[in-house]
This record gives sequence, structure tokens and C-alpha cells, in this order.
Amino acid sequence: MKVLVLNCGSSSLKYQLFDMTDEKVLAKGLVDRIAIEGSTIKHTKAGQAPVTTTTDIPNHKVAIRLVTEHLLDPGHGALESLNELSAVGHRVVHGGEKFAKSVLIDQEVLEVIEDCVPLAPLHNPANLMGIRAVLDVLPDVPQVAVFDTAFHQSMPAKAYTYGLPYHYYEQSRLRRYGFHGTSHYYVAHRTAELLDKSISGLKIVTCHMGNGSSITAVEGGKSVDTSLGFSTVPGILMGTRAGDLDPVMLLHLMEQEGITPKAMSHILHKESGLLGISGISSDLRDIEEAASTGNERATLALEMLCYGVRKYIAAYAAAMGGIDAVVFTAGIGENSTLVRQMVCEGLEFLGAKLDVEKNNVRGKETVVSTDDSRVKILVVPTNEELVIARDTKTLVKA
Ligand code: ADP
Repeated sequence: MKVLVLNCGSSSLKYQLFDMTDEKVLAKGLVDRIAIEGSTIKHTKAGQAPVTTTTDIPNHKVAIRLVTEHLLDPGHGALESLNELSAVGHRVVHGGEKFAKSVLIDQEVLEVIEDCVPLAPLHNPANLMGIRAVLDVLPDVPQVAVFDTAFHQSMPAKAYTYGLPYHYYEQSRLRRYGFHGTSHYYVAHRTAELLDKSISGLKIVTCHMGNGSSITAVEGGKSVDTSLGFSTVPGILMGTRAGDLDPVMLLHLMEQEGITPKAMSHILHKESGLLGISGISSDLRDIEEAASTGNERATLALEMLCYGVRKYIAAYAAAMGGIDAVVFTAGIGENSTLVRQMVCEGLEFLGAKLDVEKNNVRGKETVVSTDDSRVKILVVPTNEELVIARDTKTLVKA
């Protein structure tokens, strides 16, 4: 069974074609600058060098058509006929309170994704464009939606409710939703497999740290709390997003400096975080380098990031009444030995001891705690596409 996994942004589209008999990726690619001058498609067949083409790609429908052409190409393709394609699985950012699981897409599901556009105004419209483009180009292929928010729907009300008048939850849907759910789900389950334990008995804190980051408390395989909220701004310091703030400070700033809501949103999403503090870059590699040469603001950004993660780990251990494992994933979590070391310094009181030598690893599934550490610390590269492919297979087969 062959499944195409799509992650559609407003001007980009990432894809992976899976053979689900062995879960191998047959081909993958990125369509970039859709509806912008200089559109490209970079396609890679497993085991071959990438093929990059620059061509006019005015919309997602043309992008999907181009993807199918590359998948059918006799040289770098991976399909003989589109009939081999059993299903398409989409990453969809927001499913609101409607979806706690992945679903087969029909008219009703499309309407709910549409209904969630105000909750994810940048992402859900792009996801919808991708789904509609597939409907046009591959009308007979079933489609599945896998939501970033779904895994966090298991949070209890005490974790997802904000301390505002309750009608704002009831009428305006203001609550913590959480994101990166597919990644947290994958690394938590993979951790249980690697530790050879049933996930039902484990209390795990998963640290997804990339350009966007979130920390999640996973108890018995279920998300019980997470650091992102109604939006993708709160929690720990991110590349350009602020993390936790005092909201009244923002009102103060808007009033004092006449900043509009739109400009404030730009500050919170694009000008803050590692970039805002360091004044250098949103990329952790640049921050690490600047800090190593004594740059004070880069050092502060690094310290704020690691201090924030450490606080969340301890808070979530308390929330779950214990902790068995801490897992690091995504660009920073998988690659930065320094960040993992700084986060874990001072976590010994919880029973989590990092092994400095084992921690000298990048992008590889590894236990990085000492043998006598009661709490296991792991690096687990995330694989959201595989979860999407698996859910798609399961739903289409059913
Ligand atoms: P996104 O959220 O966009 O998917 P990624 O998961 O790709 O982001 O993570 C990007 C972050 O990972 C960047 O801050 C980058 O600096 C960091 N990163 C990638 N490789 C390394 C590395 N070798 N050392 C430190 N940080 C790294």
C-alpha cells in the first residue's frame, strides 16, 4: 500500500511517498514559492540525488499535479501509475475541540477544518488548499487529516482552561489547544519501545525544540499538559516567538507606544525569542557560536531557553506526580548537546542524571542518561510523516 503524506503551507508543500508494507520512504520533496516568482520543486527518489526544477507554480493544484508528474517519472519517480496510490494523508494544524484523532476527510470534516480557520488563520487555509487541490487532481483517492492539536485533546480542563471569565471559553473557544501533537505522540511512544516498557505505565516529558518548540507531559500515553496554548507563542523561548509573558505588559506597551494588534502580533511571532534577545539570529547554531565567544546577549538567550525548559520539566513532573523519562526531539533537541546539557544541569534532584559522553550525539535514537539515572533521558528524532502515513493506512483500511 502506497501513501502520500502532504504538509501544505501557504507557499510551500512538503511531501513523502511511503510504501506501507515496510514503511520505507520511496520519494520525497518540497515545492517552494507557490504563487511567488521563482517557484521550484525539489524531488528526491530514495537513493538518488535530488532533482530541482524551476517552473511557474501559480497555485496548490498545479503543485500537486507537478508532484504526481515527478512521482510517475520513469527516471526519478516511484510509481508506475497513480492507481498505485492508495491514500493521501495531510498534516492539518488545527482541529479545535472536534478532533481528538485523525479522520477520513469528507465534506463535514472539511467544514470543521474551515470552522477552525479563526483559530489557525495562517495554517488551516493552506491545509485546506492542499486538500482541495488533491480533490481536483486525484478525485478518487481517499484523504486523511492528521491534526497537530489532536493528541492534546486528552488534557483535563484544569490544564487547558485559562483564568479569564468562563464565557470566553464557552463562546470564543479561548483555551489551551497545544501543537506539535503528532511529534509528541511519536517520540513518547518510541521512548516506551526503546525502554521496552508499556507506555500505559510511563510518565514522560517530551521536549520538541525546533524553530517552534513545546514541552508536553505525557502520562500513560496521553497528553495531560503542554506548553503551547491557544496560540503558538507561549511556553519556552523559541526562534522568533516570545514564550511565556505577562499579558498586561503587552497592553501597556500597545498603549504607551501606540502599537496596533497587527504590529504586536508581528513582535510576538517574528521579532522575539532567540532573535529578539540576542539581536543576532533565530538559529540556535549562531547563538551557540556567539555565546562561545563571550557575547552576553547570546549567552542570556541560551540561558533563558534552557532555564525555561528545565522549569517546565520539573513542573510537569509535579503535574504527573512523578517522571520516568525526558525526551529531546526536533532540530535543537536532536542536535544540540549543549542545550541538553544545560537543561539537565540541576535536574539531578528529580533523579535525572545526564551522561556527558553519551550526550555527545546528534540526530540518533540514544539513551543519554547515566546507567544509574532513575529517570531516563533520551534523544529521539521525530517522525511526524510516519505517524501521518500510519494513521492514513489504518483509516483507509478500516
Ligand atoms: P522547525 O520548527 O522549523 O521544523 P527544526 O526542527 O528544523 O525547526 O529546528 C531548527 C533549529 O534546530 C534551529 O534553531 C537550528 O539552529 C537548530 N539546529 C539544527 N542543527 C543544529 C545543531 N547541529 N546544533 C545546534 N542546533 C541545531
